[in-house]
Amino acid sequence: MAKIIKGKEIAKKIRQELKQEVVEKNLKPKLSVIMVGNDEASKIYVRNKNRACEEIGIEFEEHLLPEETSMEELLGLIEKLNNDETVSGILLQSPIPRHLNIKKAFETISPKKDVDGFNPVNIGRLEIGEPTFVSCTPFGVLKMLKEEKIEIEGKTAVVIGRSNIVGKPLIQLLLNKNATVVVTHSKTKNLEQYTKQADILISAVGKPKFIKKDMVKEGAVIIDVGINRLQDTKKIVGDVDFEDVFEKVSYITPVPGGVGPMTIAMLMHNVVTAAKNKS
Ligand code: NDP
Repeated sequence: MAKIIKGKEIAKKIRQELKQEVVEKNLKPKLSVIMVGNDEASKIYVRNKNRACEEIGIEFEEHLLPEETSMEELLGLIEKLNNDETVSGILLQSPIPRHLNIKKAFETISPKKDVDGFNPVNIGRLEIGEPTFVSCTPFGVLKMLKEEKIEIEGKTAVVIGRSNIVGKPLIQLLLNKNATVVVTHSKTKNLEQYTKQADILISAVGKPKFIKKDMVKEGAVIIDVGINRLQDTKKIVGDVDFEDVFEKVSYITPVPGGVGPMTIAMLMHNVVTAAKNKS
């Protein structure tokens, strides 16, 4: 029977530690969030980030730009925030309207304020094992493994998914911790041939109940990054068929309450780090 890794509790502990650190070190962290357009899901994410900031003592500033914002206007705002001494971290909430170049926008955010870890400079630093801002979801996954004292070195870690924000940074983080890393994706043939070898299996695909018992190794650690809303019941589930694999594996993250809360906690961690770097 598996031990459930309670991301929600770990995230709460991280937020409490950050709150204490902000007071003790007299830090003045400030997060500036840029949102372009009217994406409803983004509004919820931004509200949750605002709430976490309030809890910790991070000043929160929101820049709501209209759908028809030009690239010049967006880059102008980013530059202004880059140069604003009071701003510790800048976050561009995606998605942004299609006429805007998101890659260029991420490149323009100063690496020192890039608390999402999306600037290519910070991605490069991660590659060569330098201290940097790491994308919050993969960073949260590593933190969960650390909190549970799950050994990574020498283990076979299989990552399903290779997106720039989850899969790819995870590959590098696990490699930096001396795991033997296997990365799989939609073109992988015979996926279970790889997943069955995983001591640590991390799924970031976005398909409900995609991972079944016969795809996992006995005693494996299962980290479920997926967030999927079921069409019929509207329930949120992960990529892993939780009930099916539960008896076979040693650790498992639930959805909701697993990786999700860790993502915001690690964003807060990055904002506080940015404030510390400045002071
Ligand atoms: P993307 O859609 O960008 O990437 C999905 C990845 O899964 C791709 O690399 C794709 O391969 C791969 N894939 C798709 N189908 C298969 C398949 N049949 N077999 C193997 N691999 C497959 O998604 P994200 O990385 O942004 O997110 C993944 C999931 O994680 C989503 O459910 C998302 O909601 C969730 N998420 C959760 C977060 C959290 O805080 N917990 C934060 C961010 C995301 P290919 O590259 O070949 O297309």
